[in-house]
Amino acid sequence: MSDFKFYPHYVVWETTFACNMRCVHCGTSAGKRRPDELTTQESLSLIDELADLGCAHMVLSGGEPLLREDWRELTKRSKQRGIGTYMITNAFAMTPKIVDDMLAAGMDKIGISFDGTEKTHNYIRQRDDSYAQVINAFKWCKERNLKFQAVSQISNINIGELDQMREILNDNGTVDWRIQMTTTTGRMRGLSDMVLSLPNYAKLIDKCIEFRKLDGVKIDPGENIGYFGCKGTELIDGGIYLGCYAGTRVAGIESNGNIKGCLSMQEEFVEGNIRDSSFTEIWNRPDAFAYNRQFTRETAGGPCRECHYLALCRGGCTTTSFAQTGERANNPYCIHRMELEQGIQAPPDEPYIAEILARFESPEPVETDSSPRSTPDIPS
Ligand code: SF4
Ligand code: SF4
Repeated sequence: MSDFKFYPHYVVWETTFACNMRCVHCGTSAGKRRPDELTTQESLSLIDELADLGCAHMVLSGGEPLLREDWRELTKRSKQRGIGTYMITNAFAMTPKIVDDMLAAGMDKIGISFDGTEKTHNYIRQRDDSYAQVINAFKWCKERNLKFQAVSQISNINIGELDQMREILNDNGTVDWRIQMTTTTGRMRGLSDMVLSLPNYAKLIDKCIEFRKLDGVKIDPGENIGYFGCKGTELIDGGIYLGCYAGTRVAGIESNGNIKGCLSMQEEFVEGNIRDSSFTEIWNRPDAFAYNRQFTRETAGGPCRECHYLALCRGGCTTTSFAQTGERANNPYCIHRMELEQGIQAPPDEPYIAEILARFESPEPVETDSSPRSTPDIPS
């Protein structure tokens, strides 16, 4: 990674910690606003700084970003600065007027959290009327031509409902479905038996592969599922997974100005606060984001350290690996690792993958201009 150009191409921003829900799977235990959240002026200056650094995509997240009163202003500034601007919302505060305001502010697309059939979604969200509101939000977005995506966190609670969830989305005209795995972070730290068991993780991969072959809602696998081997490669249609971009092409901002490589990462990964040093200073520190920028085979652990694909994958999702093993790259939630444990060998590398692996393993510097596979997984 040391020969890679680092810039915050994709930023996920917890604009507020306030939330109107108390979801059992919340990756950050959001609830009450932090007492020291960035002001509007600080936030607008930060957007300008990110634009100057080359930010191309910004996700306004939370907590619940609609509870931040200046979300329209932040969206407008981000768009004025040429940044693709998105929001991830639980939809509880949405109304037709909010959809109109999003369009007027220039919002490119929103993600709407959707976590199961009515009973399950309402249980996870801890509000009896939350499912009905999600269905309303799908309808309002569709009627007004605001692009949207359903975003689902999959755990042992809802893994058995994937077929029904797909039917609901098709019935409601949803064309995009991002599927992520819930990790043992935030509120789930106390509910770790609800995080997918390894057999259920394998079922999730199978379902995603099955759904991708069907007409209807299009599946967008989250960055914390898959990785090489037979099924990992099939999951992304033979494409190439280039690992975690936290702190290299992705940045996370907490509502109090703390900076991390990715918003979903644990507090151990906070690199600094923009009230002490500017984002640019934090981003450009020679020792910043060392877990990715200075990644070597020796910094990996467990089976990842010996893995054929390590130079590309770097242990997959940092948040998931660290949550499970306390190590940056020792990730049990890898379908390739699971296949090897079952004696299933990966197919021969496509020539272009073999060539890239050989280049990465060579002592000569390697230039690459790849961008993140899609989007980092987002607390929802
Ligand atoms: S075993 Fe580790 S390095 Fe290899 S593909 Fe899986 S997560 Fe990546
Ligand atoms: S979601 Fe996981 S893989 Fe993606 S940037 Fe964050 S830590 Fe890395």
